Amino acid sequence: MTYKILLIPGDGIGTEIAAEAQKVLDRVLKLNGGQVEYSYGLLGGASIDETGVPLHEETRALAHGSDAILLGAVGGPKWDKLDHNLKPEQGLLQIRSSLELFSNLRPAMLFPQLAQASSLKNDVVSGLDILIVRELTGGIYFGHPRGIRINDAGEREGFNTYIYREHEIERIGRSAFAMARKRDKRLCSIDKANVLEATVLWREVMTSLASEYSDVELTHMYVDNAAMQLVRDPKQFDVLVTGNMFGDILSDCAAMLTGSIGMLPSASLDKNGRGMYEPVHGSAPDIAGQGIANPLAAILSVAMMSRYSLNEVAWADQIERAVSKVLDQGLRTEDIYTDGMTKVSTSEMGAAVVDMLDH
Ligand code: NAD
Repeated sequence: MTYKILLIPGDGIGTEIAAEAQKVLDRVLKLNGGQVEYSYGLLGGASIDETGVPLHEETRALAHGSDAILLGAVGGPKWDKLDHNLKPEQGLLQIRSSLELFSNLRPAMLFPQLAQASSLKNDVVSGLDILIVRELTGGIYFGHPRGIRINDAGEREGFNTYIYREHEIERIGRSAFAMARKRDKRLCSIDKANVLEATVLWREVMTSLASEYSDVELTHMYVDNAAMQLVRDPKQFDVLVTGNMFGDILSDCAAMLTGSIGMLPSASLDKNGRGMYEPVHGSAPDIAGQGIANPLAAILSVAMMSRYSLNEVAWADQIERAVSKVLDQGLRTEDIYTDGMTKVSTSEMGAAVVDMLDH
């Protein structure tokens, strides 16, 4: 079987880390006799510079014709002053929406070797392995009406719409229950049902789904409490499911539990398992071009791609094992460096993982 993979390096460190991720995928393919047909696409700032828009029709068409997409990151100060609809991040929202990638999986796993890099105490985070399932194509980020207007009193006001339709809640709920089933069978649904009607419906739909997944234990938690619990006792969770905005915030918080945002991969899936895979982090303009970015989140995104879109679970295990062994050897990029370790560049880290795949 030849998999069609679209590579979108993007902007800033996106190009640096995507290059290392591709080297790892190439090595895995070679070792396992796998076949891939690559195509390359522009998105975000790189697309604006070349085509005038953050998502060009050509990239959209390539994405629709692919089995999976590997994305670096988009954005940067160069494009910050553009109109809202022309900003790089709009390209990301548009491609997710166009492909109906409604289910965003964000694992927060702490490699034991990196316990020192976490800002929390060792016993709070060691062994951490949680999965945040974030709804990605609905909620307040997409709701209409939205904008900035002059109100009747002549004052400017900004407004957005927090809206969830029943089918949107149901499909992300099913996705999360299915993930929980493959793990420790505990699902915590996060909402703000004490204040927001949209999340009252969210809670009702999640509760109604529970009877179909009686082997999974469903609990509910308000988002403010969830934020607190994530830093107080994150290991109490197995799978969390939540809407777009709450998921955005909570997953970055969970990211920091693991020491560095540079370690965290993510997957965004449609209902058939086609997915876009990308690190949780952005284009990091502050370190772009210096060769010091951590490529492991992008490399672990290749592992997620193997597991969820290519159904090559053994490849995923191989990549994750190689990353763990490289950390065992004490190799660290700057973001995860602690005393006594060996500091390496982006490409040195990528090369070490490629080498380790052979062992
Ligand atoms: P960021 O994630 O790019 O960076 C936050 C901090 O983490 C920075 O100090 C950065 O140096 C560090 N960091 C991030 N990734 C790292 C890595 N792999 N290795 C080492 N250090 C790393 O977030 P930001 O600064 O808020 O945003 C920068 C740009 O990225 C903005 O234009 C933003 O819109 C965009 N962004 C894009 C995505 C995406 O493409 N999915 C996600 C978030 C932000």
